Amino acid sequence: MRSYSVKSGNHLGCNLLANPSSSGIASLEYWWKFLWCINIPSKVKLFIWRACPNWIPARYNLAKRGMHMEINCLVCGKCLETTVHALWACPALKQIRSTYHCLGGFGVKDNMQFLDLMILCINKLLQEEFELICIIIWRIWCRWNELVHGKPALVDREAVLWARAFLNEYRRANDESITLLGFRVFF
Ligand SMILES: [Zn+2]
Repeated sequence: MRSYSVKSGNHLGCNLLANPSSSGIASLEYWWKFLWCINIPSKVKLFIWRACPNWIPARYNLAKRGMHMEINCLVCGKCLETTVHALWACPALKQIRSTYHCLGGFGVKDNMQFLDLMILCINKLLQEEFELICIIIWRIWCRWNELVHGKPALVDREAVLWARAFLNEYRRANDESITLLGFRVFF
């Protein structure tokens, strides 16, 4: 399994930020290769990947594609429901942000691009912290879908605990499969 260090994480961030258009094809290819190498489930990688060009159905994204609909946030009702707002910046997610706290006091604004938030995370976080925030963000989106469909959603504090337990279980299962694969190769 390949992994990135704090140093290589910074290197990635510098490469992406050096390009004035962070949506440049070369940068996106590099970002995808990086994302594919970290130790999280593929479905989470795909979700993070789709969120970067605003391909998730947050209300503001849908309205920009021509749908006539409410564009303020489903949860707080106060701000535009952009990708970053729905996944991290909404005031209703304050407890999740403070429970996670690895990003410290770095302000994240609603008008920030999600890819720029990811670059910020890569530059500030260790690999395990970055993997955890990917799971938390994915969980926040699952929670959002639960709310949309009127299902009982996890309370904020439990969302972070859930993400930690989910990631630990994924790592444990992954380690076991690697061990089994080793036995198969050896014999
Ligand atoms: Zn909101």
